Amino acid sequence: MATFLFDDIIFGPVRSRRLGNSLGINLLPQTKKICNFNCLYCECGLTNVPSSDNLKGMPAREEVRSELERTLNEFIRSNRKIDTITFAGNGEPTLHPSFSQIIDDTIELRKKYIPSSKIAVLSNATLVSKKEIKDALLKIDFNILKLDSAREETIRKINCPLGEFSLEKLIDKLHSFKENLTIQTLFVKGKYKGYSFDNSSDEELKGWLRLLKDLHPKLVMVYTIARDAPIETIEKISEEKLHSIASKVRRLGIPVTIST
Ligand code: SF4
Repeated sequence: MATFLFDDIIFGPVRSRRLGNSLGINLLPQTKKICNFNCLYCECGLTNVPSSDNLKGMPAREEVRSELERTLNEFIRSNRKIDTITFAGNGEPTLHPSFSQIIDDTIELRKKYIPSSKIAVLSNATLVSKKEIKDALLKIDFNILKLDSAREETIRKINCPLGEFSLEKLIDKLHSFKENLTIQTLFVKGKYKGYSFDNSSDEELKGWLRLLKDLHPKLVMVYTIARDAPIETIEKISEEKLHSIASKVRRLGIPVTIST
């Protein structure tokens, strides 16, 4: 199936219900995806196992800074609005070796050009165990962290972490974000390599809602597959089901958005 890669460092802005006019930053190479997850639904395609070789090709800190400054300048000159600067793109942004310094640069440029805008990072949260990464994330406005299930077995089936992974440790770290935590969950069902999964089943939802109650994020974003996925044996969840899941989250007193 067709997959999609961002072919620039800065992209957009794209219109988002939650983030408004969101200018994207892609810290990953423009020709390949780099991630430490291998989500079966990833729009960027399946992940090659990280090696020192395929970690090459990320833009240098200075290049990101100058591209961002140039773009912000252009937007100011043409009176165009940016509500949020969002780190997303071709994989996991926190894998960039200068991630924390790039966040500092972005905060500085935001202050200089568009002080009213917010900074967001979309991440799978696996590197928050590194102090430097966590400290950088705590400086920004929106940490949108992926949590597709409260069961490690399901995460291993859907997100397929590459290398070491412990859901228990991850949850422990998520607690430290307190009120600066947004949870993003993609609901999907299907079969792959002889096993099946459905993170929207009653059993799954029970554990996930219990975990949300405990974490109490400031927002939950629920969604399902929107574009082509690299695996053909996975299916999207119905809009009706997403609305039913969202109402259960609302009953916990947690705001929720749905993307279909
Ligand atoms: S964490 Fe994001 S970038 Fe990485 S495989 Fe999953 S969907 Fe793709």
